[in-house]
Amino acid sequence: MGGDFRRISLLEEGKKLRDGAFVADVMLGRLARWLRILGFDVLYFHRAPDDFLIYVVLESGRVLMTRDRRLAEEPILANKAFLVEDTRLPWQLREFLGRYPGGGRPRCADCNGLLVEVSREEVVDLVPQYVYFNSPRFWRCPSCGKVLWEGTHKRNMLRFLGFDPWRRDEGSPE
Ligand SMILES: [Zn+2]
Repeated sequence: MGGDFRRISLLEEGKKLRDGAFVADVMLGRLARWLRILGFDVLYFHRAPDDFLIYVVLESGRVLMTRDRRLAEEPILANKAFLVEDTRLPWQLREFLGRYPGGGRPRCADCNGLLVEVSREEVVDLVPQYVYFNSPRFWRCPSCGKVLWEGTHKRNMLRFLGFDPWRRDEGSPE
């Protein structure tokens, strides 16, 4: 286990870990990004040996998402691992949401930070003009500073998953 791992904060400070916090194996980077957008708390590491993932699960109480059946069936991970069977992203999302329905306030796809909704005026100089005029909502990530908006790609994916994205646009994302 390399020294870098010691600097990783497994728990957000002062926050009690609720059910529904996850760590994804290296095969599931795209799934992790989409789950963050849907409001799931998902840690992802570009390089993470199995023993490190097991360490994260045992230390943090998170559930491991993995494509590796052998790892998912490790006795030490009993009831703490979720085997993702499909290789296709939309179906992986369906598998996951079938087991863990819900989600919450959207998180940053890049860093897992909890997004804060910002007004259009705040982002007018930060996003391309066509995005400014065509996107109904904007968020900022307090952790990495990125400005995000809802695009057609997300709406199409949500529609595939059976969400009505326009209905979700009403009121609070929580
Ligand atoms: Zn971020």
